[in-house]
Amino acid sequence: MFASFQKKYFLSDKGVAGVKRGIFWTALTNLITMAGMGLLFLVMAGFVEHLATGADLPDALPIVGGLLVFFVLLFASNWQQYYYTYCIFYEECGKQRMEIAERLRKLPLSFFGRRDLADLTETIMGDVQTMEHAYSHVLGELWGAIIASAIVFVASLFFCWQLAIAAFWSVPVAFAVLYLTRGPMTPVFDRVRAEKVKVTEAIQETLDCVREIRATNQEARYLAGLNQKIDDHEKVTIQGELGTGIFVNAASVIMRLGVATTILVGADRILSGQIDFMLLFLFLLVITRVYAPFDQSLALIAEMFVSQVSADRMTEIYNTPVAEGTAHFQPQGHDIVFRQVGFAYDKKKVLDGVSFTAKEGEVTALVGPSGSGKSTCARLAARLWDATEGTIQVGGVDISTVDPEALLRDYSMVFQDVVLFDDTVMGNIRLGRRDATDEEVLAAARAANCDEFVSRMPQGYDTMIGENGSKLSGGERQRISIARALLKDAPIVLLDEATASLDVENETVVQQALSRLLAGKTVIVIAHRMRTVENADKIVVLKDGVVAEQGTPAQLKAAGGEFARMVALQKEAATWQL
Ligand code: ADP
Repeated sequence: MFASFQKKYFLSDKGVAGVKRGIFWTALTNLITMAGMGLLFLVMAGFVEHLATGADLPDALPIVGGLLVFFVLLFASNWQQYYYTYCIFYEECGKQRMEIAERLRKLPLSFFGRRDLADLTETIMGDVQTMEHAYSHVLGELWGAIIASAIVFVASLFFCWQLAIAAFWSVPVAFAVLYLTRGPMTPVFDRVRAEKVKVTEAIQETLDCVREIRATNQEARYLAGLNQKIDDHEKVTIQGELGTGIFVNAASVIMRLGVATTILVGADRILSGQIDFMLLFLFLLVITRVYAPFDQSLALIAEMFVSQVSADRMTEIYNTPVAEGTAHFQPQGHDIVFRQVGFAYDKKKVLDGVSFTAKEGEVTALVGPSGSGKSTCARLAARLWDATEGTIQVGGVDISTVDPEALLRDYSMVFQDVVLFDDTVMGNIRLGRRDATDEEVLAAARAANCDEFVSRMPQGYDTMIGENGSKLSGGERQRISIARALLKDAPIVLLDEATASLDVENETVVQQALSRLLAGKTVIVIAHRMRTVENADKIVVLKDGVVAEQGTPAQLKAAGGEFARMVALQKEAATWQL
């Protein structure tokens, strides 16, 4: 039972051991509490005896001693129960979050096309929390209560089996009723979660686009949209809670029917002289203690059902195959060869039969209209995605057989969306190579022409640059990213030349930095301007996902095909004036 449970709820071995101990200590706590009821019963029996027959009152000393032992045991057992049902799971949750994050890091990018950021954040934070609550508040309580009650039930059969059945029948019936509601409630729980993700997404989008929203006076429209989503979420949440509330209360009332049947059967037994009143009294005392922990589990068992939705979503992450391969990557040189490469995002085919070679020490420019597949080629070359057809080799090694982390050690990427962290300039550049000395970082920064703008910052290279470099201009961000790549000094450079679409002054410094970076490397550049292209060693023209033509700039110009047409178009655009 525990093995399937461990798999279903992604518990570690320590977590499962914690659940088992949690159940044990909860059961023991429940039994000790019921033993307390036994003590109360003995005292009451003594009093009744005294009233009925004038016998001596029971001795106070054993009663006080018994009470003391009871409280000490209860405290010790509760202490253990708390540790094994709560503390252990806080640790377990931390571990799970790390595991999911680690798993996400290894998943192919195609996965992220299907699940957006808000959704994944919700899984790491929300879903894991739901599961944590389910383990800590429900599992131990529920199974502990079941085990303790089963023991008390068996024991009570020896006193009077009719009374035992009259007292306990309602527990399984109440749970069965609640279990039956699981079917109709699951779609509601699914919707609650979906609406919650929509709200998170909307808030994230509003924050991300705050500048555009203000610039286009869209505040009112955005807020109205957000309001609507919050309302929708509230509505389904209320539906979910109402449904759960009704069923849980119904189950609780059904469970309480056990008191009525105990009294009825008890009265009948007393009248027929088969038991005395004190036994009925004992049963009534015990069942209040049996029902109490179940009441708590009933209220929370709905949470167990909700947690199934979360568990399913975590399964999806764990079941998605990660991009794997050998960590041993020793290519013969760094020529990149595309052979009949085809690729589709979901079902949409965007590359078909693409073949070209990007030689070491040369700049290979990918050109073509927007949407022709240039960026996709660059992503495939670094195994950010896996090609669906054909092969891509680096230095004779098929990259689909290489662990992406090992492969990427040989790549530097300077792409359009430079990601910067809320760290110092120095820290951001050092991402290129973690073990670089300060001198090496500064040398790379100088070569990337960062000195000029960093010297104007209050603490120079130790200045914090704000979340995602919000305090930096486009050109400055790009120079940091080039410095990173220079520091890494990887033999392959993938470059999106849109990064160099800057004002003239900035452009010269960025270009200087780039030429230092590119010297002697295998370079694939996604080119946008003909000036870059004219200096390239080789040009690959993509059109609608196929290679329209390839060759040196001179050859292609002479051929008078697609490339010659693009050059002519850009010349025309360059002379265009407002
Ligand atoms: P280019 O760089 O030449 O502008 P891309 O390689 O970015 O072209 O895109 C090629 C095609 O693939 C386009 O039609 C684009 O809409 C589509 N595409 C790009 N990225 C994705 C993605 N993550 N998911 C689905 N389709 C995409």
